[in-house]
Amino acid sequence: MTLSKPAAAPQTASSRGPAPALYPWPAGKTSAAWISIDVDADTPLLWRLREASDDAYLSEREQRQYGLRAGLRHLLQVLARHEVQATFFVPGLIAARQPALLPDLVAAGHEVGLHGFAHEATREISTDAFAEALEASIATFLAQTGQRPAGFRAPGWELTRPMHALLHEQGLYDSSLAGLDHPYTLDGVLELPVSWNREDTARFKMTGLDARWPPTSPVVVLQEWLFDWEACAAAGGLFTLTLHDWVSGRPGPARVLDQLLARIRQDETAWLTTGVDLAAHDRQLAPDLRTAFASAGP
Ligand SMILES: [Zn+2]
Repeated sequence: MTLSKPAAAPQTASSRGPAPALYPWPAGKTSAAWISIDVDADTPLLWRLREASDDAYLSEREQRQYGLRAGLRHLLQVLARHEVQATFFVPGLIAARQPALLPDLVAAGHEVGLHGFAHEATREISTDAFAEALEASIATFLAQTGQRPAGFRAPGWELTRPMHALLHEQGLYDSSLAGLDHPYTLDGVLELPVSWNREDTARFKMTGLDARWPPTSPVVVLQEWLFDWEACAAAGGLFTLTLHDWVSGRPGPARVLDQLLARIRQDETAWLTTGVDLAAHDRQLAPDLRTAFASAGP
């Protein structure tokens, strides 16, 4: 049910003509683009094998180790070339194993956000276990950066309502859901929507015999994401790109990001920003300009 409806925002002329008043972006901007990078490395595999005693899946382990060995560095180089700040969602376990990672990302001007502690699959844990992982992650981030993280992204983009309520208690924004094409509030939590159309593992990930599809060519993905960004910008929405260190850090996919950013940066009406800045912008809007919903039931 809708608690309040978005008021009509003033339309701003752009090279594409007047944008629809989907959301009140900052002055001069008619859409937004956000580069988000989930630094999963090998944590999803470790979670999957947490009760296994053997050292299986060496091939997948090595694929994933590429992220912290090389992939992250390649992505940071692309971002630096375009002077773009991104948001890195990092499992607490990765931060604990690599104590310089979060401080280095923050020193480079990027935002760091929460992504579970051990990349726990939320469907497989209790609400209490989720709360413990959240608190342990916040404590790790606070100890390593001196700052409390502003945002959270659920592993696998899946949450339960009680877990979502814990994000509200912690005052975090969330970026796991996809209920609209622009920021909105659900049960008091600011949502920065994601999209499977703008996610890399569904296109490039192939870990062996359990693969559900062959990898897509980076050439095809570049065309796809350029098309989707243009459509999203024309509609006045938020284009959230979700990448992974071990997937998009490879040369071909990293070049996709390079060419996509080159194109987006040509459009002065597109606000290329971070999650924390998107959240700050939304929170300073007048209440009648924000979009809020309440989900049904507990
Ligand atoms: Zn993840």
